[in-house]
Amino acid sequence: MSHTSSLGINAFMADLMAKNPAEPEFHQAVHEVVESLNTFLDENPKYKHARVLERIVEPERIIMFRVPWVNDKGDMCVNRGFRIEMNSAIGPYKGGLRFHPTVNLGILKFLAFEQVFKNSLTTLPMGGGKGGSDFDPKGKSDNEVMRFCQSFMTELYRHIGPNTDVPAGDIGVGGREIGFLFGQYKRIRNEFTGVLTGKGLNYGGSVIRPEATGYGNVYFAREMLKTRGETFEGKTVLVSGAGNVAQFTVQKVNELGGKVVTLSDSSGYIYDKDGIDDEKLKFVMYLKNIKRGRISEYADKYKVKYVENERPWGEKADIALPSATQNEINEVEAITLVSNGCMCVSEGANMPSTPEAIQVFLDKRILFGPGKAANAGGVAVSGLEMTQNSMRIGWSREEVDNRLQNIMRSIHETCVQYGTKDNEFINYVDGANIGGFVKVADAMLSQGAV
Ligand code: GLU
Repeated sequence: MSHTSSLGINAFMADLMAKNPAEPEFHQAVHEVVESLNTFLDENPKYKHARVLERIVEPERIIMFRVPWVNDKGDMCVNRGFRIEMNSAIGPYKGGLRFHPTVNLGILKFLAFEQVFKNSLTTLPMGGGKGGSDFDPKGKSDNEVMRFCQSFMTELYRHIGPNTDVPAGDIGVGGREIGFLFGQYKRIRNEFTGVLTGKGLNYGGSVIRPEATGYGNVYFAREMLKTRGETFEGKTVLVSGAGNVAQFTVQKVNELGGKVVTLSDSSGYIYDKDGIDDEKLKFVMYLKNIKRGRISEYADKYKVKYVENERPWGEKADIALPSATQNEINEVEAITLVSNGCMCVSEGANMPSTPEAIQVFLDKRILFGPGKAANAGGVAVSGLEMTQNSMRIGWSREEVDNRLQNIMRSIHETCVQYGTKDNEFINYVDGANIGGFVKVADAMLSQGAV
């Protein structure tokens, strides 16, 4: 039986869901890819004969472990740690660590699966992985976070290495956490290596790494806009989230002459009709990175609208750059965005649009950049950090930024190559899925039964 006729897709998904129960995000991520690959696999039977699809959805290895730690009150706490080593066909496993109470096996498998395609698109030699814990850094002291990170690394160190698996940050894991994790790895192994990326500049980090995901997404959106003779100049932009990705997205949009009017966190969103300029952005960075407070404090300080428990997609804008988390734009919100005149949605987060929302964007033929292409700038600069660590040198900002811009242009070209339809419409979802798949699949074919 063909596994990729429409009957085949259903049978394939039924198998996958039976084998991986209670992992809806993983099912969602796989389903999208399988749909994109349908015709391509029919036209290229070698992948089907070699069961590449069946293999690529099966993680090479999953590590799950206990993370015991003691809080400031002296109480024993226990969390669950994970590392999904998804695919190493084109390089060492590479992908971030997420610390968030919603983390579970299914969430990390969806992220690791996306990462395989994303890393392939960057043109750099990186396989795909993801990890993390259900630990909630919110409200924890620096010392508690340190003790947790040390305990986490006390197990993880035996599974990773600069040529094996190179974790980095994701939600809840930034410079502070990477520092604690790196310090513990170095003590246990007695080795100073590029085993993590997103390191501080004084111990092997790369310039532009903190900026890379946000800048990269804006560079990708700029390429998409160019296909319709448009630019960021004078455009109103909705950004969700208020963390690392959102912050540097605002900075780059400002630089290109656009105006960002929203930011959000899990409690609500702020709307600033005058735009979040560089001065106000400095406050957001202080608020979120140092004070670790809530975005509602922005509304108090600048006397702007704050909407509790809502997402910003009801506001009118030309461009939306979702930069918070998965499934943060649903079908109704997608319809609202498009009917308010939004012409471009580019995903800074991983899988922020639901499948129904994506269908709205594709049906309405707006520019839609899926995360695995649009937010690949972060992991791309992680790849450049690995290169610099191997060479034991550090490149200038200009060098890294130029490389990042070239990589985002190249990802855009790959999407155009594999995603342009007969009617000239560029389906970036298909483009990213097929373009990301080919390199990994060919490497797997070359390596035999891997
Ligand atoms: N967590 C980021 C992502 O989703 C970056 C991963 C990395 O730098 O390895 O791609």
